[in-house]
Amino acid sequence: MAVELQPRSAFAIAQRRFDAAADVLGLPDDTRRLLREVKRELTVHFPVRHDDGSVHLYTGFRVQHNINRGPAKGGIRYSPDVTLDLIKALAMSMTWKCAVVGIPYGGAKGGVVVDPRRLSRSELEHVTRRYATEIALLIGPEKDIPAPDLGTTPEVMAWIMDTISMHAGHSVTASVTGKPVEVGGSEGRQEAAGRGVTYLTVEALKYLNLGEETPTVAIQGFGKVGLPAARLLHRAGLRVVAVGDSKGAVYNPDGLDLEALEEHRKVRGEVSGFKKAEDIAGQELFGLPVTVLVPAAVEGQITEHNAPRIRARLITEAANAAIDPQADAILNERGVFVVPDILANAGGVIVSYFEWVQDLQAFFWEEEEINTKLHHVITRAFYEVLHTSVNRQVDMRTAAYVLAVQRVANATTVRGIYP
Ligand code: NAD
Repeated sequence: MAVELQPRSAFAIAQRRFDAAADVLGLPDDTRRLLREVKRELTVHFPVRHDDGSVHLYTGFRVQHNINRGPAKGGIRYSPDVTLDLIKALAMSMTWKCAVVGIPYGGAKGGVVVDPRRLSRSELEHVTRRYATEIALLIGPEKDIPAPDLGTTPEVMAWIMDTISMHAGHSVTASVTGKPVEVGGSEGRQEAAGRGVTYLTVEALKYLNLGEETPTVAIQGFGKVGLPAARLLHRAGLRVVAVGDSKGAVYNPDGLDLEALEEHRKVRGEVSGFKKAEDIAGQELFGLPVTVLVPAAVEGQITEHNAPRIRARLITEAANAAIDPQADAILNERGVFVVPDILANAGGVIVSYFEWVQDLQAFFWEEEEINTKLHHVITRAFYEVLHTSVNRQVDMRTAAYVLAVQRVANATTVRGIYP
């Protein structure tokens, strides 16, 4: 039997996912070759003076995959694991994410190879401002609009916006999203990704006829996505029974007291050791008897090794690329319904889009209006993906890619080739 080699490169995996959709669509070769590559990739090396006077050299990236449907959009990641390969993969996935939910953006991503927890606040600000200056040639409201991702915060976004504004000589609030509300941020942006995860989980449970009793949920990640998702899923009537972070996980089959857990995490810096639950190993979370599993931490968490143990009926893939392709195949075979990352976590970029629109028109909406619009956009996308999945007899991930790639390919064809 021929053994198919699995690529280790995140970008090769992203290309493989694209190829699967291109095959379903029968995409012409020239369009396929174009969309498999990124449009621009910028690597920068820059010095930053630390508090003790020493000078450190940092490396950062900004990649734009495609801008045929609108300006490039995508987060900035601060992590020691950042590589150009990973940023290219994430930039491509942003193109499909914006297309699948029908917002007028292309895809981009950026990152700096740095562990932000090891820097003082002032060092973090200097890294940010210098990185923003280095990539400024690409950034702007009509060109490329960064946002937060792993390791970056609304404050980091405020520094980037301020740096771009200093270069321009006036405030350019629409150059970055995910900012604090005081400087042109949007109501509802902070919990938008978790809110989108919640809306989609509720719709998927309805579709799967699993919404009647109290569905249970286990969440990996208790950060900017996982924490609001936990709170909102609880409010939507689900029972959150397990939560994990980078150090471990906690489990209580009767449901976790989320407020107390948040307080405990604030004090201890981790969820483990929480009195009203049992400590379990991080990996155990995947084998729990729950209705829903929400991976909301980092990529590559669900693999061929733990996929066979998963007992959840539904996975809402909140973290980018949390499920690898081998695991996808196992989950499909076992009938686990997956809401794929490009749809599952699109709430963040949808409200980022609303933030950008509000900044451009200098007219701000109330949170209720934002949540209503988010619900409309993300639910519409869910049913469009579901119909594609049913009509084309493909899984939800392939369906999401098919829909997105078709939209980007159409825009590319309509625009034609310059010159
Ligand atoms: P975050 O840094 O705020 O939180 C990450 C959480 O994951 C933390 O609780 C951390 O302890 C945990 N974690 C990290 N490594 C882990 C590991 N190896 N095992 C278990 N837990 C681990 O990040 P975030 O903004 O919540 O992002 C989470 C994911 O969602 C990422 O894939 C990100 O790209 C994606 N995402 C974020 C947004 C957003 O608006 N923040 C939007 C779309 C997608």
